[in-house]
Amino acid sequence: MLFDDPDIKETIASVLVPVAVPGAYTYKVPPGQSVVPGTIVKVPLGSREVIGAVWDIEPDAAINPNKLKYISRVYDTTPPLDKDLRRFVDWVANWTLGAPGMVLRMVLRSEEALEPEAPVPGVRRIEGAEPERSTAARSRVLATMEDGFAWTRSGLAHAAGVSASVIDGLLHHNVLEAVLLPAAPPPPKPQLDYARKTLTPAQEAAVAGLVKCFDTATGSVSLIDGVTGSGKTEVYFEAIAEALRRDRQALVLLPEISLTEQFLRRFEQRFGVYPAEWHSEITVKNRTRVWRGVASGDVRVVIGARSALFLPFRELGLIIVDEEHDAAFKQDDRVPYSARDMAVVRGHLSKFPVVLASATPSVESRVNADLGRYELFELPERASGADLPELDAIDMRVEGPERGRWLAPRLVHALKDTFAAGGQSLLFLNRRGYAPLTLCRTCGHRFQCAHCSAWLVEHRFQKKLVCHHCGHFEKVPDKCPSCQGVDTLVACGPGVERIAEEVSDLFPQARTLVLSSDLPGGPERLKREMKIVEEGGADIVIGTQLVAKGHNFPKLKLVGVIDADLGLAHGDPRAAEKTFQLLAQVTGRAGRVHGGGIGLLQTYCAEHPVIRALLSGDKAAFYKAEIDARRSAGLPPFGRLAAVIVSGPDKTFAEGYARALARAAPADQAVTLLGPAEAALAMVRGRYRFRLLAMAPRQFDLQSYLRHWLACGPKPSRGLRVQVDIDPQHF
Ligand code: ADP
Ligand code: ZN
Repeated sequence: MLFDDPDIKETIASVLVPVAVPGAYTYKVPPGQSVVPGTIVKVPLGSREVIGAVWDIEPDAAINPNKLKYISRVYDTTPPLDKDLRRFVDWVANWTLGAPGMVLRMVLRSEEALEPEAPVPGVRRIEGAEPERSTAARSRVLATMEDGFAWTRSGLAHAAGVSASVIDGLLHHNVLEAVLLPAAPPPPKPQLDYARKTLTPAQEAAVAGLVKCFDTATGSVSLIDGVTGSGKTEVYFEAIAEALRRDRQALVLLPEISLTEQFLRRFEQRFGVYPAEWHSEITVKNRTRVWRGVASGDVRVVIGARSALFLPFRELGLIIVDEEHDAAFKQDDRVPYSARDMAVVRGHLSKFPVVLASATPSVESRVNADLGRYELFELPERASGADLPELDAIDMRVEGPERGRWLAPRLVHALKDTFAAGGQSLLFLNRRGYAPLTLCRTCGHRFQCAHCSAWLVEHRFQKKLVCHHCGHFEKVPDKCPSCQGVDTLVACGPGVERIAEEVSDLFPQARTLVLSSDLPGGPERLKREMKIVEEGGADIVIGTQLVAKGHNFPKLKLVGVIDADLGLAHGDPRAAEKTFQLLAQVTGRAGRVHGGGIGLLQTYCAEHPVIRALLSGDKAAFYKAEIDARRSAGLPPFGRLAAVIVSGPDKTFAEGYARALARAAPADQAVTLLGPAEAALAMVRGRYRFRLLAMAPRQFDLQSYLRHWLACGPKPSRGLRVQVDIDPQHF
């Protein structure tokens, strides 16, 4: 009785599935199929089937196989996830206290990519066959096919400039034959020596240092700290070339999709081909292609948003994190993680170099460089030889504009001069929409979001009041909903749309453009408009923080900051760092290529250390003061922080639970517990949020502490959610 032979043991595998459970589930491997750790599989889970990955084989011999279900499908045409990637998934889960399955979900982003690629119908010339009757169109087709290669039908019609019916005719007359072509040809490889720039000595030194990092194979981290326009990109392009030379793949992480277009073009200028791109806006088809190409090794360089960090690279050998200080590298929801920090981890696990680049590094990275944990390469001057912009403050208390205006006379003057001289100007205000607050001047009614503790922001172009946290919007009403007053609603304070209105008023003949992430037309429009600015097709640009990041606008001369104090108002200990970075970045857009840039900062507190540091250009002094302050307060990177966010639909219940959780915290001298307090945004999407903050010394294992605490604390019920955020951005 072969089938009941107890010696024929079934293979049992633990499979990580993309759900929020702590571990893996166990399944039987179907007879005749083989799996290894990393094999991607489909498994039954409750009433559905999900895609997961084999994490272990024969995890526990004590399990009774009769109680287990079979893996329902083995994706054997997709390479298994390699050991380094699996370790990385486990590591991220462990660090963030997230479920490993939820981290794996970030790897398995493209289900379509798992299906074998269907071949594409094509045609080929039958050797020696000639059409009975020759026409001009037919001759063109045959001339196009002279090299003997196969073509797709549409590709051939396009190349020969004929309609598809001509090709059908040739098929019909047995001059061409139908063939199947492999789906997509692999993308062309970057050409290492396509167009290398002559580098400055400082750039050369940095490149030489980076190249050395490949030899040590220890997973070293480098920080390129170079002023805006110093040629950091050219430097890390050479690091990419080195990775490619060593047959490794390279990944460049950028904080913002709006940056990719310009980056792709620059990459093409250097390497002769476009790199693959990966972010939330790419089509399913491209996503499928990139995922597969990365796994097969056909794709050599990816430029992407933070999620690209979880792509299943076959032989990754370098990660660049550009604008490494940027908060966009932090994912706040689901699995909260910092892509910059996790990039360092991925490099460390796989022993390849990681390069962080910024003109205004994060305090964390700067400290790591100062302590020698990171290699430091400094580029103190602009590559073009252009000088850094001349910055000045406009003290709004003494030289502010008249009521109802937002541009001080001196700024208007500078705009006028720049416009007259044919230069480009940028007005920066980190506030989308027309006005941050709308109220009734008769009864004082304010428009608030029904679901969030936030004011509704008027967007005049769209005639809407919008919540910037949950997206809720309403039409701007004709009268006040509270006192029924007509024409009593007033807009308070400026947003970019309002500044644009003032600019159009003052400079009707100037070409003005608003760059903001939420204007109709979406990312496509934004890409077009970025290009217009780049090519000098706009005289005065009004933009949100979108324009502060890495862009190269060669004609830009003047940068005016409408409200330099905006970010300083927060009680957040990172406020000074963030504001310094933002303002140094945005003013750093001026005069990048030809010099002579000017930055004017409108401020009500010109004596603030951040404003003073910007004006004096003494970046080192600012970092030193900031680092000293963090050290004495035991704040990151000198201490460790984790936020525990409790949220729920009922305010009292959520708060009560947060208190109970705080009381249940294990006593430990090393840990200081703060809160619960209302989170910075006390309500979002109808959920009330309370926050506990755990602080500990740098060497303390905060994750173990938190794990223990949450395991023995009260269980959340009635719609409550508990989320841990390690190294929160705001604290
Ligand atoms: P960063 O990334 O530091 O802001 P970029 O790499 O964008 O600086 O360089 C700024 C400008 O200087 C770009 O227009 C770039 O083409 C130019 N550039 C950089 N390095 C060189 C060089 N070695 N020679 C000439 N131009 C350079
Ligand atoms: Zn809302």
